[in-house]
Amino acid sequence: MAQRDYYEVLGVDKNASDADINKAYRKLAKKYHPDLNHEPGAEEKYKEVNEAYEVLHDKQKRAQYDQFGQAGVNGQGGFGGSGFGGGGQYSNFGGFSDFGDIFSDLFGGGRRRTDPTAPQKGQDLDYTLEIDFMDAIKGKKTQVSYDRSEVCETCHGSGAEKGTHPITCDKCHGTGVMTVTRQTPFGVMQQQTTCDKCHGKGQIIEHPCPTCHGVGTVNKRHSVEIDVPAGIDNGQQLRKAGDGEAGKNGGPYGDLYIVFKIKPSKKFTRRGTTIYTEVPISFAQAALGDQIQVDTVDGKVTLKIPAGTQPNTHFKLRGQGVPHLNSTGRGDQETTVNVVIPKKMNDKQKEALVDYVKAGGGNITPQEKSFFERLKDKLNGE
Ligand SMILES: [Zn+2]
Ligand SMILES: [Zn+2]
Repeated sequence: MAQRDYYEVLGVDKNASDADINKAYRKLAKKYHPDLNHEPGAEEKYKEVNEAYEVLHDKQKRAQYDQFGQAGVNGQGGFGGSGFGGGGQYSNFGGFSDFGDIFSDLFGGGRRRTDPTAPQKGQDLDYTLEIDFMDAIKGKKTQVSYDRSEVCETCHGSGAEKGTHPITCDKCHGTGVMTVTRQTPFGVMQQQTTCDKCHGKGQIIEHPCPTCHGVGTVNKRHSVEIDVPAGIDNGQQLRKAGDGEAGKNGGPYGDLYIVFKIKPSKKFTRRGTTIYTEVPISFAQAALGDQIQVDTVDGKVTLKIPAGTQPNTHFKLRGQGVPHLNSTGRGDQETTVNVVIPKKMNDKQKEALVDYVKAGGGNITPQEKSFFERLKDKLNGE
């Protein structure tokens, strides 16, 4: 079978951040998980998604894959990856029990749930938090509110009315599954399906709780205080443990992932911890040198332009960039000077420039603007 490109499998581009990859993976793993998706081909897709994730979420394997493609990660040893052992046999990928860890993060219960009444962690939630450019640099406290499922306070999650208890399902004896035997052209086939009496829960609630109608959870508005760290960048995420959906059977709440989206600034461009700006200067300032005021994220600072500065010269303002996220110190600002040639001058300025040329021993024949050029200037409001 031809291998599909791993980035393609996860639907992310080659420059995707770790957060993008995690997010894409979580989404697809839920979509194709064999317990949740019974469509033909879903299991194959699920394996493919896990295979791609196994490589792309690991910095070293991802680098190998980027450089050498499939051959770089095809189990020649040295990676120590659990899914890639066995002398490079991709067929080893058949059983994907190696992904149990990732999986228990997602669903809390592991892939093969033998006991549907065992505690399960609740689902994780994603929240995209859009923040202003400056808030990403300075950090700030804010609050987010969203709807999530919470454990019903009336029945404490059991789903049963006060004074009553759920009873074990007599059809599946609490396993949540039943075995169906069928005669097929290939012989007798046994298949496990979800119990149709308890719908896989293993329990039956005879007297449902009036608040949650037997579900055990209720939808509620939930608010979380978010401490936006100074220096956070687009696409980075913050995990808030326990702020996801309610667990089942007394299991813990899932987690909340705050994914940051940063609004662009009119003044500044940011790449990593470096801030980029452009500042216009005149020909005279470039030639003679000057001191100018430039904007930084902390306000204006003085920048010395040396005499003879060329157009598009970059000046580095050390420590004026974005704070490092998980350590001390800050990035730099890079300011590019843009030498602007005047489109309009008064007679005195023109004379001075002609004198400037003559003083250098040169000669110049200034050109008057044509009617159309003057008309164009007028239309452009100059
Ligand atoms: Zn209830
Ligand atoms: Zn049952």
